[in-house]
Amino acid sequence: MNRRYFLSSSIALGTLLACSKLPLGRTSLDDKTKKDIYSLKAQGVKKVTRTNEEWKRILNPNQYRVTREKGTEAPFSSPLNEEHEQGIFECVACELPLFSSAAKFDSGTGWPSFWQPIAKENVREEVDTSLSETRTEVLCARCDSHIGHVFEDGPRPTGLRYCMNGVALKFVQGKV
Ligand SMILES: [Zn+2]
Repeated sequence: MNRRYFLSSSIALGTLLACSKLPLGRTSLDDKTKKDIYSLKAQGVKKVTRTNEEWKRILNPNQYRVTREKGTEAPFSSPLNEEHEQGIFECVACELPLFSSAAKFDSGTGWPSFWQPIAKENVREEVDTSLSETRTEVLCARCDSHIGHVFEDGPRPTGLRYCMNGVALKFVQGKV
């Protein structure tokens, strides 16, 4: 990556973060209807692309294994499973806001679980046939980090269960 590209991508990243964070500060938890949360968009998600070597410098080995190699953390291993404070769960690799504490619920699985992402466009879904059961993989829309899977056995109002690896997320308290 040359310096010019790095600078331009850094500026773009900063702009994206600013755009995505502004509406959050104006929204109280009480207003968190499904419609409200889906309106918290990232104003267009611009891709962040790095080499594996670059990711290895940014991420610790556990984060790298899950996000870049589609690993799965052991259930009940992440402190974020028991995180009940208000805040935003960002992608650990690129800090794109992915989930709000307002949509978090205790699924009993041992993985942090949410009934919807903070904005549809902030996550990308792919069919995952790596196991005998076909699953839907959830990735960060900005940096393509593997975050977890989504299942259709979640609570109302969406009926979805975003089953996430806590190690792929970074919790930022108090931003909701
Ligand atoms: Zn990301």
